[in-house]
Amino acid sequence: MLNRRHVLSGAAATTFATAVFPHRGSAATPAYDLVVKGGRVIDPSRRIDAVRDVTVANGRIATVAADIPAGGAQMVDARGKLVVPGLIDIHTHTARFREGPELVLKDGVTGWIDAGSQGADHIEDTIAVAKSAPQQARVLINIGRAGILPEGDTMDLNRADVEACRAAIGRNRDAVAGVKARLSRDVAGPNDYEVLRRTQQVATSFNLPVMIHMGQTITPLGKLIDLLKPGDVVTHMYAPPPNSIIDDSGKIIPEVAAARRRGVWFDVGNGQTGHMRWDTIDQIVKANFWPDTFSTDWNTNAHMTGVIDFPNCMSKFLMLGMPLDQVIARATVNAAKTFPVFRGRGTLAVGAPADIAVLELRNGDFDYLDNFNNKRTGHQRLLPAGTVLGGKYTMA
Ligand SMILES: [Zn+2]
Repeated sequence: MLNRRHVLSGAAATTFATAVFPHRGSAATPAYDLVVKGGRVIDPSRRIDAVRDVTVANGRIATVAADIPAGGAQMVDARGKLVVPGLIDIHTHTARFREGPELVLKDGVTGWIDAGSQGADHIEDTIAVAKSAPQQARVLINIGRAGILPEGDTMDLNRADVEACRAAIGRNRDAVAGVKARLSRDVAGPNDYEVLRRTQQVATSFNLPVMIHMGQTITPLGKLIDLLKPGDVVTHMYAPPPNSIIDDSGKIIPEVAAARRRGVWFDVGNGQTGHMRWDTIDQIVKANFWPDTFSTDWNTNAHMTGVIDFPNCMSKFLMLGMPLDQVIARATVNAAKTFPVFRGRGTLAVGAPADIAVLELRNGDFDYLDNFNNKRTGHQRLLPAGTVLGGKYTMA
């Protein structure tokens, strides 16, 4: 994880710290294992936005303060960079690929959910990847027993098999964090309502949340959303019509507003096709309805698409006018509230697991794509620079 270039810069930074604190000894027994030095720390969970050092001991955050003497600890020079809690991506397909977890770790992602890549028949495949991942990782089981299918997961309603899904969850209670229903007309067709009803039937029997993939459904969204309970997640919230979250007059539909009031989460789910179009996004922004969480809908080809990486998806919201600390909040403290596996994460609070993303905030002209190849130019972009996971540093 630690490479030579980093060790060298760490040594240089240690010299600097020693010079500032000349009474510190050679520190044969450092008080900390790692110090992230001199970055702009933004931790919305604690309302911190200031230049600070963050120290790590025994895999946990030990101190967040200015000018901490580093002793002999490993150094990460974060001067000129942002230091934020590790990013949590609640809609990915990381578990489809053995190399997925290591790839997203470099993007600053210290926790992720695989959102329905597999159903009851092959859920153990994605669980194996999630369990061997270095990050906190869980899977949502697709209500369609064969998982994601090009011909539509539940176009054949028999695939929304309640008993098969229950049995698969029963075998894997520790790894399944919820149940996913993909409801677009090319995925569930006219079965969307019945598929969601069955999904909720399975989820409630295990007290698990449901995540729906909304947009371009046959059943009106309001009718579907009324089936959601507090703690459930609506992903692809910016999906263009038919059946988007706003009506033709630009108003958020009442069922969506009611769902938010009762504690249903609204998530971005950037994705690659059909889920985001700038003109629909503009209307939703105008209606002042913002996401609770961001997510990438990540696949290994992300870098060849408008997704690129999680920090790039976050950058789109800087362009849309969301303040930086709120952008960070949605990828950290907010996301940590959605699934119990992330409890106590998404924060740099002392004692929390030492999951940290080091990001670069670059100024310039950056093109951002929606899912229809429409380009928008923003003037800031977040880029991954490094990740600390449980106290271990990896360069981007
Ligand atoms: Zn997805």
